[in-house]
Amino acid sequence: MAVQREHDVVVDYGDLAVTGGISVFDERFDEMFYYDGDDLGAAYTPEGCKFRLWAPTASEAHVVFYLTWDDAEPMMTLPMKRDVQGTWVLNAEGDHQGHYYTYRVKIGEDWNEAADPYARAVGVNGDRTAIVDLHSTNPEQWEDDRRPAFDAAVDAVIYELHVKDLSSHPHSGIKHAGKFLGLAESGTRGPNGIMTGLDHIAALGVTHVQLLPVFDYATESVDETKLDEPQYNWGYDPKNYNVPEGSYATDPYVPGLRMAELKQAIQALHQRGLRVIMDVVYNHVFDWYLINFTKLVPGYYLRYKEDRTLSDGSFCGNECASERPMMRKFIVDSVLYWAREYHMDGFRFDLMGLMDVETMNELRRRLDGMDPSIIMIGEGWVMDTVLPEEQRAHQNNADMLPGIGHFNDDYRDAIKGSIFYFDQKGFISGGAGYEDRIRKGVAGAIDYNEQLRHFAKEPGQTVNYVECHDNHTLWDKIVLATAQDAEERRISMHRLASAIVLTSQGIPFLHAGQEFMRTKGGEENSYKSPVEVNWLDWERCAAHQNHVAYMRELIALRRSHPAFRLRTAQQIREHLYFEPAPEHCVAFTLRDHAGGDAAKHIYVLYNARTEPVQLDLPELGGWAIRFGGEHVAELEGSRLKAHGIGMIVIMVAGEMVG
Ligand code: CA
Repeated sequence: MAVQREHDVVVDYGDLAVTGGISVFDERFDEMFYYDGDDLGAAYTPEGCKFRLWAPTASEAHVVFYLTWDDAEPMMTLPMKRDVQGTWVLNAEGDHQGHYYTYRVKIGEDWNEAADPYARAVGVNGDRTAIVDLHSTNPEQWEDDRRPAFDAAVDAVIYELHVKDLSSHPHSGIKHAGKFLGLAESGTRGPNGIMTGLDHIAALGVTHVQLLPVFDYATESVDETKLDEPQYNWGYDPKNYNVPEGSYATDPYVPGLRMAELKQAIQALHQRGLRVIMDVVYNHVFDWYLINFTKLVPGYYLRYKEDRTLSDGSFCGNECASERPMMRKFIVDSVLYWAREYHMDGFRFDLMGLMDVETMNELRRRLDGMDPSIIMIGEGWVMDTVLPEEQRAHQNNADMLPGIGHFNDDYRDAIKGSIFYFDQKGFISGGAGYEDRIRKGVAGAIDYNEQLRHFAKEPGQTVNYVECHDNHTLWDKIVLATAQDAEERRISMHRLASAIVLTSQGIPFLHAGQEFMRTKGGEENSYKSPVEVNWLDWERCAAHQNHVAYMRELIALRRSHPAFRLRTAQQIREHLYFEPAPEHCVAFTLRDHAGGDAAKHIYVLYNARTEPVQLDLPELGGWAIRFGGEHVAELEGSRLKAHGIGMIVIMVAGEMVG
């Protein structure tokens, strides 16, 4: 029986999904066929190549060898031998470096041909697996590459970046525009001689660069054979999970090159003290029907409803069944491979709320075994999926997911207004009634007290942000929400939003260009918009160097005071005090937490009022302005008069307290 292609129809695999009388949809299938070896895929040596494929429902399997990525005729086809747990093996003698292969499996009466899901190298556009000696893709001194020193997740300042956005602007000064290698260039300069690219990022003082998908994605809008045409996509369309994307390589036809160039970029970032987080998309695949998973084991890897239609919480047509043992194993193997082979320092899980708790915890456990400083964060949204509620890796289940951060969408919306109601004002733009939601965010979304409690058990479980690749940029949102306000006032709101993110407990997260008030000209969803909409506009950066400097100072403030980076919920409850403040203001102190420039106590005011306001600081010693002095009208003893929209930080130095 043929597999039906259309969406929203029952996927009837008939006999294709059955072997030995057991359907892939049956739990017994996993009991019978779960394979836990670490040798799936192809293992290369100059003497021979060993293949192992998991395909329990196949009645025959072959490895088909090709000389090139698009030869119509294979070089040779070798039969695989049935082995344990539904796997097939082949030991192909001789040196196959540079060859391509696919698997051909007989499922029912059909022959399907697919790339290896465990492929680590592929030909252009990723339809054939390439055999590459991994060692040959290592840049010089790769064995000396080390993760920059890093301790707790709350010490991170994450900077989210698309490979192409960094270097595509005509004045980026970057030679390898739009490429992995563009990330690796030092000393690049833009308009007025400003730093661009890697120098710009390093000078900001962020700790982690988070790259939008760099694995091989498949989308109509990026064809790796047409790189001289204008093409752009964010890349949330997984095709080959364990292979770098070809369009970011200087030559996508040379399988090892994209691997080498991504490693070079990571090495260059590491050398500048920057860690790298990889955006991974294990919640869905580009096309459920064309993906190698479905061709090799129809019905197994994706998630189906009772009526056998595809569960589609991703809105991309399908979901990966992370809860099924071989899908879970694939995800775990994949993440560990990127961490080990590419020295990735963290992972950001797209639509993590569609993944299951056990898989996420297994990933945390295995990464801890490698290096506990590797960060895990994700989109823990509550979504519409058939996965049972108590198994979903979303915010409301954060207590079951220690060591994993969730994007705090409530805080984002409280600060700038809902992303769904474009003209809705938030705290920064004069919206009313947000103060307690701001306080919850300041406290790291932990159980702070009866009134202020949210999803996190520990502050490392919340990711605080006001802008990311999705939705309007912060600047564009402010423009939409403040039709009446002048530019200067909007700038103050923008600065206040970033200041809140960088002085709250938890993990702060910035979107590239936020430091110069990035705009996409009002576009809400630019995932396949022209690169001109998405690129970092280095002219705008040059024009707003004072805001870049402001961001640099904010980051330095956070990094120099451990009180902004309290490690545990208990420390937050002990040291964080909310102070009296009028409407449109939130004030707090961080008390008795030594460190930084000898600060004993820190007072922080987020002032979203437009008129001057008078506040009383707690009697803790001699207060002195540390940050945001331009908003201080008067500070006398414990009496503070503040004006404008902005953040003020005032400190009592350690030695001044008896
Ligand atoms: Ca691709």
